[in-house]
Amino acid sequence: MAKTITQTIASVENKLKALHQLQVIDTEVDKIRIVRGELPLEVQDLEDLIAGLNIRLEKFNEELTALNDNIVANKNSIDLATDAIKKYEKQLKNIKNNREFTSLTKEVEFQNIEIKMAEKNKIQHNANVLHKTEIIYACAAQITEKEEELKIKQGELKKIIKETEKEEVALMKDSEKAEKVIDERLLNAYKRIRGKVANGLAVVSVERDACGGCFSQIPPQRQLDIQMHKKVIVCEHCGRIMVDSNIFEEQEA
Ligand SMILES: [Zn+2]
Repeated sequence: MAKTITQTIASVENKLKALHQLQVIDTEVDKIRIVRGELPLEVQDLEDLIAGLNIRLEKFNEELTALNDNIVANKNSIDLATDAIKKYEKQLKNIKNNREFTSLTKEVEFQNIEIKMAEKNKIQHNANVLHKTEIIYACAAQITEKEEELKIKQGELKKIIKETEKEEVALMKDSEKAEKVIDERLLNAYKRIRGKVANGLAVVSVERDACGGCFSQIPPQRQLDIQMHKKVIVCEHCGRIMVDSNIFEEQEA
């Protein structure tokens, strides 16, 4: 019976030690990620921006093709009208009566109006093409600029990742190992607290009679309970899991 109790006590203490160790490891991982800072996000944002700009560029190019098609169609209608006029003028040389003359001159007049309209359209179409071309150049220049920016940021990120990768992989392995010792319920509580607090510290020790996380005073009796490591005690103010500050030395020993 006594043996069972000892085992239970030891297991709580071991769990707290493992939890504390996990916290130390995770804090190291946090430090690495702080070094990387906003870079991964900045790289992602730039990649998204460039993808968006490329879609726009593609759309602008399609619009330019349509505008150029308009120019070709317009030129065709001028050619057709010119040919028609030539044909009518030829016929005018061989007219048989007044009615035919009136009819042909009306046709010529009509074709000339067509040409005039097409010439007017041509000016507008050319202006449209010029405008669209300018937009395309500006868009392409922006893409080039952002791609250069991305290249620099990717380089920086790659360098930082390379510098810290080995350490991070080792820490992640240690983290997994430490997690295995802790039961699921406690581990989930740890993760939940870690996600909630700004500094990522879910396990803290008592520092100068206060919680190492939120600095609230801890009554002497509670401090004694924490020192015993017989049960999981959380800070009444911030909810962090409390351990005694000598837990680390015990672990080292
Ligand atoms: Zn606290």
